Amino acid sequence: MSYRSDGVLKKEDLQRALPSEERLRRGPVIIIECVEYIPCNPCVAACPKGAITIDGDINGTPEVDVETCDGCGVCLSACPGLAIFAVDASGDGETAVVRVPYEYRPLPEMGEEVTALDREGQAVGTARVTKIVNSRAMDRTPVVSLEVERDKVMEVRHFVRKKGAE
Ligand code: SF4
Ligand code: SF4
Repeated sequence: MSYRSDGVLKKEDLQRALPSEERLRRGPVIIIECVEYIPCNPCVAACPKGAITIDGDINGTPEVDVETCDGCGVCLSACPGLAIFAVDASGDGETAVVRVPYEYRPLPEMGEEVTALDREGQAVGTARVTKIVNSRAMDRTPVVSLEVERDKVMEVRHFVRKKGAE
């Protein structure tokens, strides 16, 4: 993958980074959106299955073996750059789930409707909070599950609470 100084994946990066539709339909899997040339690798150590590797020196970009990854989500909280997401597009319904690391406070409420944002911070619709995982082991980086329209599962990467919800 090419390095990007703004840290944001471009369309051509996405075509290479995304799992196949067939893999997405099989169950949850992570998407790593780490494209900066930086010395970092906690994601590699965090994965109990050894699914994440960095080719070359520590400044390289990590890659995930999507056949080994079971989407457990452990690596999401381990990434200091909040650059790992998990998607579950396995159902046949009109919605899918995106899990995002979230360090703002207060945390949203279960069931809350929030504004979904894309990887550049642009609003792309509404999402619903379906799960919040915030254990001590996650070191203050909770993971929030968002139910989104299925065709937005590769677009939504963050959210903001709607006015009045804070
Ligand atoms: S989601 Fe779990 S299995 Fe997949 S890369 Fe992360 S830690 Fe490994
Ligand atoms: S921990 Fe996060 S920022 Fe660091 S290399 Fe892994 S994905 Fe990139």
